[in-house]
Amino acid sequence: MNINKNYLNLESSYLFSTIAKKVNEFKSANPNKEIIRLGIGDVTLPLPKVAISAMHAAVDDQAKKETFHGYGEEQGYAFLREAIVDYYQKKGVKLDANEVFVSDGAKSDIGNILDIFDNENIVLVPNPVYPVYVDTNIMSGRKVVFMDGNESNGFLPLPDENVKADLIYICSPNNPTGAVYDRAGLEKWVEYAQKNHAIILFDSAYEAFVNDSELPTSIYEIEGAKKCAIEFCSLSKTAGFTGTRCGYTIIPFEIECEEASLNKLWVRRQTTKFNGVSYIVQRGAQAIFSDEGIAEAKENISYYMENAKILSKALDEMNIWYVGGKNSPYLWLKCPKGMKSWDFFDKILTEVCVVGTPGAGFGENGEGFFRLTAFNTHENTTKAVERLKKLKF
Ligand code: PLP
Repeated sequence: MNINKNYLNLESSYLFSTIAKKVNEFKSANPNKEIIRLGIGDVTLPLPKVAISAMHAAVDDQAKKETFHGYGEEQGYAFLREAIVDYYQKKGVKLDANEVFVSDGAKSDIGNILDIFDNENIVLVPNPVYPVYVDTNIMSGRKVVFMDGNESNGFLPLPDENVKADLIYICSPNNPTGAVYDRAGLEKWVEYAQKNHAIILFDSAYEAFVNDSELPTSIYEIEGAKKCAIEFCSLSKTAGFTGTRCGYTIIPFEIECEEASLNKLWVRRQTTKFNGVSYIVQRGAQAIFSDEGIAEAKENISYYMENAKILSKALDEMNIWYVGGKNSPYLWLKCPKGMKSWDFFDKILTEVCVVGTPGAGFGENGEGFFRLTAFNTHENTTKAVERLKKLKF
């Protein structure tokens, strides 16, 4: 018996456990101090009411012989796939329901998609980035090449013709930086992918936070993308489904590699290794894509974006460089006076009892940067910025 030795090449993820340890130690030493968490990467508001009603009704369906559902289609029920097609139609993107695959969230599919690609592929990943892209490739022994996100490119790296890649990860709006590619940026990536016969793996998990109508919320808004891009999205951040679990992956019919249809390969993979998402959850997800559902989900997003505004205003007043916060729940700031990420973390925890996430935890290029999130309450966010403004550097 041999294990998959690639797992031994994974770096231990100390980021959130180290944060928890430091916060707990501080709490024990200072039991009367109130800590405010701006490191939260999870939604905090309850699900839209339409989704709750739809899921209650679906539970009742399961109680009656006539409406009971056993195994569903691995790809997802047609009612949900069609609702997703309609949602894209509103963005001006035409899809076929058989190009949509319902999943239990974007993370699983982002990892699983690698099943249909050769292990020899060269993988291009931005740095800093959502760690799942890197780790899932290390698990399968693939070679990962990084592209630099930094202050000068606003953490939105563009293609470098000298770097040849087969699979390219793009996350927009980005976690952790909150930066969002404009149309011109994505056009460059699509052009590069087509020229180099590469596939873009586009993660649009935060698309619902995009306010600016000029910014693309789907890679398919870019001409040619249907020939070279797979899109992963999720209801997690769109509609508070982080604990309910539902997402979707789009694989257009047009993408072909070595004359094989990626859509067909994925159907084969899913029908073999996946038995679909719960009927109840899919009914809840369907409700989110109704006009009422979209409006309710937007209300929650507006609540978070109000917090993002409070944070942005404070950073502006403090003269701190940052990206994000305009079309994303994340703000990515440059630690003042060249401070390191963890030193900044310690300073704001110990001096003003505010917790955020050190950028160094998202890759080398995150050193010296720091992520704040908009998922706390208005009250706490306001209190936190008042405290941050008192800091002396
Ligand atoms: N993609 C990005 C960029 C994320 O930040 C997250 C979750 O935080 C996910 C995907 C995973 O989403 P899901 O809950 O749908 O698995």
